[in-house]
Amino acid sequence: MPLVVNCSYVKHWLLGSPSPHARSILLSSRSAIWEEFWSSGMGEAAAGGGGGFSVELTGPRIYSCSNCRSHIADHDDIISKAFQGRNGRAYLFSHVVNTSVGQKEDRHLMTGLHTVADIFCQQCQEILGWKYERAYEESQKYKEGKFILEKAKVMKEDW
Ligand SMILES: [Zn+2]
Repeated sequence: MPLVVNCSYVKHWLLGSPSPHARSILLSSRSAIWEEFWSSGMGEAAAGGGGGFSVELTGPRIYSCSNCRSHIADHDDIISKAFQGRNGRAYLFSHVVNTSVGQKEDRHLMTGLHTVADIFCQQCQEILGWKYERAYEESQKYKEGKFILEKAKVMKEDW
């Protein structure tokens, strides 16, 4: 059963360095659901570490897997919409949830050599895009640790 958490909590937890605002929320709200989130190991799953838990995002603009409807990302986390995927348009996100990361490999992309790893839907194993593990060109470094989602592989969840 998915545990519903406010997506900003997940987002800032995934970020590793919460904003001062988020940190004050974390410090001041040790609610039961938040305790459960921390103790369940779900944070690890949310970051792509597996474990069989799924995270349900609660923002107004959620992208989900077009194959199985698992929540994947929050529209607020889009860095750029001007990316090219394997099959057309793709978006660059700062965070995703409910995904697993495959083997790293070097790929020559239009913007130079990158080390990337495919990302899969944790629920249905569909390839959704890839993660930029490393960029070699200085101008492309901003992509490191970020995620490409193919537009054709995700859908808007009721918005
Ligand atoms: Zn899926």
